[in-house]
Amino acid sequence: MQNTRRYARELTIADIFVFLRAIYFKLTTIFPKEMLNIILFGPPGSGKGTQAYRLKETYNLLHISTGDLLREEKAKGSPLGLEAKKYMDNGLLVPDEVVIGMIRVKLEENVGKVAGIIFDGFPRTVAQAEALDKLLEEKETHIEKVLALEVGEDELVRRLLERGKTSGRADDTNEDKIRTRLGEYHSKTALVAGHYAKSDKVRNVLGEGSIEDITKRLAAELDGDTGEEE
Ligand code: AMP
Repeated sequence: MQNTRRYARELTIADIFVFLRAIYFKLTTIFPKEMLNIILFGPPGSGKGTQAYRLKETYNLLHISTGDLLREEKAKGSPLGLEAKKYMDNGLLVPDEVVIGMIRVKLEENVGKVAGIIFDGFPRTVAQAEALDKLLEEKETHIEKVLALEVGEDELVRRLLERGKTSGRADDTNEDKIRTRLGEYHSKTALVAGHYAKSDKVRNVLGEGSIEDITKRLAAELDGDTGEEE
């Protein structure tokens, strides 16, 4: 008798749990929460990877780094990786259609399943930015903000050479290749900020100082808490 009563009580709690969960899922389908999609922007060596990792944890975002995805393909020796290697090892940008194709797959797999995405190292050309806007629009979402890390050129070269000692990345060890990458940034990637400035999405953030302080500045921009008058 006692057993039956305990079983009945447990069943009731479990039922309530299942019922509440069903209501929660129903509500999130009727009123989906807006995704928080951000671009972490800046030249090579500005700390995008480090900061993306920290922001992803705080805001529960999916981190998509095209550099990491391309290095994975390179390591696997896939046809895409072998094609990309020719550009990457020389500090040049990989063709747009290759990276846009990778992003399309990632969005297909993840939109609707994650709270938001932090893009790191993408988009790097205006054509990539336009393709990203279109892909997100198809999924009824958009880029919320572009956080642009600002770091002086000498500091960038110093950081990249320093990283090259331990990263095992061929493109970090040679100063000529570093200069080529910075050249690609200035001639092709910097224009991406102009693309997003048209819709007032760009926030410049000082990328020098301690890692902690830089994260705080980025978070303040995301939270709309920069102490500036709106
Ligand atoms: P990263 O790790 O972001 O510095 O990227 C390393 C290298 O991968 C770059 O120098 C490019 O050769 C290539 N790469 C990464 N992301 C992109 C992109 N969005 N467009 C073109 N090339 C890219």
